[in-house]
Amino acid sequence: MQQYFVDVILPIPLEKQFTYRIAEEEYHSLQPGMRIAVPFGKSKVYTALAFRVHRTPPQLYEAKEIHKILDETPLVTNKQMELWFWMASYYMCTVGEVFRAALPGGLLLESETIVLRNDDFKGGEEELKDDEWLIFEALQHQPILKVNEIAAILDKKNTLPVLKRLLEKGIVKVKEKIQERYKPKLLRFVQIASRYADEASLRELLDEMSRAPKQREVLLSLFSLSATTRKPVKLKTLQESSGASAAVIKSLLDKEILEDYYLQTDRVKYSGGSTEPSVTLNEYQDKALKEIRDQFEEKDVSLLYGVTSSGKTEVYVKLIEEVIARGQQVLYLLPEIALTSQLIGRLQRYFGDKVSVYHSKYSNNERIEVWYHLLDRSSRAQIVLGARSAVFLPFSDLGLIVVDEEHESSFKQYDPAPRYHGRDMAIVLGKMYGAKVLLGSATPSVESSYNAKTGKYGLVGLSRRYGNVLLPEMELVDIKERTRKKRMKAHFSDRMIEEIEEVLSEGEQLILFQNRRGYAPVMECEECGHTPQCPNCDVSLTYHRNRKQLRCHYCGYAMALPKSCVACGSHSLNVKGLGTEQVEEELRTLFPHARIGRMDSDTTRGKYGYEKIISAFEQHEIDILVGTQMITKGLDFRKVSLVGIMNADSLLNYPDFRAFERSFQLIIQVAGRAGRTEKRGKVLIQTYNPYHQILQQASMNKYKDMLNDQLNERKQFAYPPFFRLIRISIRHRNYQIAEEAANWFAGSVRNSFVSGEWKKDYILGPESPAIGRIRNQYIKDITIKIPRDQSLKTVKGVLWRIKNSFSAISTYRSVRLIFDVDCY
Ligand code: ADP
Ligand code: ZN
Ligand code: ZN
Repeated sequence: MQQYFVDVILPIPLEKQFTYRIAEEEYHSLQPGMRIAVPFGKSKVYTALAFRVHRTPPQLYEAKEIHKILDETPLVTNKQMELWFWMASYYMCTVGEVFRAALPGGLLLESETIVLRNDDFKGGEEELKDDEWLIFEALQHQPILKVNEIAAILDKKNTLPVLKRLLEKGIVKVKEKIQERYKPKLLRFVQIASRYADEASLRELLDEMSRAPKQREVLLSLFSLSATTRKPVKLKTLQESSGASAAVIKSLLDKEILEDYYLQTDRVKYSGGSTEPSVTLNEYQDKALKEIRDQFEEKDVSLLYGVTSSGKTEVYVKLIEEVIARGQQVLYLLPEIALTSQLIGRLQRYFGDKVSVYHSKYSNNERIEVWYHLLDRSSRAQIVLGARSAVFLPFSDLGLIVVDEEHESSFKQYDPAPRYHGRDMAIVLGKMYGAKVLLGSATPSVESSYNAKTGKYGLVGLSRRYGNVLLPEMELVDIKERTRKKRMKAHFSDRMIEEIEEVLSEGEQLILFQNRRGYAPVMECEECGHTPQCPNCDVSLTYHRNRKQLRCHYCGYAMALPKSCVACGSHSLNVKGLGTEQVEEELRTLFPHARIGRMDSDTTRGKYGYEKIISAFEQHEIDILVGTQMITKGLDFRKVSLVGIMNADSLLNYPDFRAFERSFQLIIQVAGRAGRTEKRGKVLIQTYNPYHQILQQASMNKYKDMLNDQLNERKQFAYPPFFRLIRISIRHRNYQIAEEAANWFAGSVRNSFVSGEWKKDYILGPESPAIGRIRNQYIKDITIKIPRDQSLKTVKGVLWRIKNSFSAISTYRSVRLIFDVDCY
């Protein structure tokens, strides 16, 4: 007998290959990239992705049959799969994990357990426990219950124990039901019934209707709408334009004079009018554009190093115009949503509905529509503006990738796998499609600048602000000395207060930056020194005054504000450190007439959270905007003449080899929000260490000095870009086990690598990171520094082998082991 099989990718972190049995006709119709629903384990159903059909049965197990094929044509292209395999291998995870991250959730099937009444049950109700009886009772009234309904009835999350008992007693049966989650949104349209298609019968109809003027009015409206728009007419539009009541239209439908029908429509809609021509570049922008074009002749990647407000975006726009005129696609990557809302508007003004947005803050259905537009090669997605996950989309003819704010560390996915870097993947993607990649930043990452310096990337500079506005004047304010001389009010220096007063009196706006949300990061008892800690993580709880809570920023744990110290009962509780809430409150006291807004992740929840605050600030409904690093990112405000950094020291103290680079970038970026029009802006940086080298360099905008210093240090201490880093993170609930496991792993790594070229100090750890326990998991990290001339592939091979031996040790089976390649 002939047998047929398909190898599939499952969205799970197992490295094995999975083979299922298919029928002969499926063997002929199934193409790689189609989704298939397959059974897995005892009762699960997964959405798998077909990647190969063949006729060789698996050796170690009996292949199960698939449930059904979910697509008529491939949902995933070969190029996408190629990229995903590359990612899995580079970032040391499974293709399944990449697949899971790549597909919008709605394209992965949901398997839903359904509980049914077992009609064979003959026992009596008196044998049932309370919770069992509740379910039994509910099933007398309705034939099926979903697991979440059961949870609601019992008012508890874990329904497994009771379900298990009900099954054992033969009271219920369970079944898995598959649901495709994506439901295209349908709109209702109307047209004239086909029997009135010819002119004669139509005239007759209109004559007949002279006695029903309202209905006649509706028909005339419909004619004029169809004639002017030449598009299907929505029922709603017809109703609006004819002014008729729903009843009038309904009677026309009932009489079958009108017919209704449904069409799928896109949820994300461009609502603006026609497009505008792009601006005329000034001579510097023009020169930069020409240089980029020239560089692209020889190089695939170029770095545009342009100071804040130099008009980089307008240069991108010109390049995008050229690419779409050739009919090619453009991917425009941004690190975060905060930026997107301003940019969407800007791009749509130029490119209309050719712009699609792909972002996790958008709903599943909206993301799925972008996916299908790309598969269909629709012009609706010729320009995709997206976050890092947009690299997973089914492009076909990509001509250009713009990576804006390329230095942003939020391009790196931290958790879960694949732990990829959006900018680096953009470069890989560009290579696959033969697309050019433009990296842009006012503060390029040390890596990218190094690549430009060594000639691997092209380099183009734009050193003047648009309109010849000067870069803001930067002033370091020594708050140590001012505290001593009593020239501070709360956290505000006399200089800061003076400048704020001036800005407010001129009717201008200002931004205050503080890198911490909440009110204060630490609450401390004056008597005994106790500080409330998160029960699940090794961090102190942040005081949120508005919500009257102490909260953990790592696991979300929250508790009501204690009235007295839990350790000694004292009522003298003090706060230490500074968060945005406190800055806001102090401002309200110091400047009672100013209108103050705050932008941090507490105030920007929900899809339009950012838009609301940003547009309130743009409309000058707010005078002072207080915020975390969210406000530093490329936002373009017109009337901001002052930027204040409340405490620069909190930036410098991160235990990370990038801390200085990041502090520099952050200061320059936040400063860049000031004085973007005629008047020169001002930036005040409050610090306890005004002579700190990085603060000096940032305040004088000495990027090159910073770069050279950092390159020297990185070279000396063996860090990127001279070395690659792989971090192995080991996590377990039990400290002892975590420590032992980490020692074991580190020992094996040292045994395998330390010899010849490899020095002992290329392997760091195991050590506890700054926060040694998160969500009750103790963390131990081992970092391997890999010299550039060593084969990364070989190193990874060895690591996989060590991992396999590690997993074979029974005490370590429950240990979580995470590889992070090019960790940040
Ligand atoms: P960057 O991205 O470098 O920070 P932007 O592209 O946001 O700078 O430009 C800063 C401001 O100057 C924006 O408001 C932009 O509209 C304006 N601008 C830039 N170039 C031009 C130009 N050639 N003509 C008119 N306005 C421009
Ligand atoms: Zn106490
Ligand atoms: Zn916590």
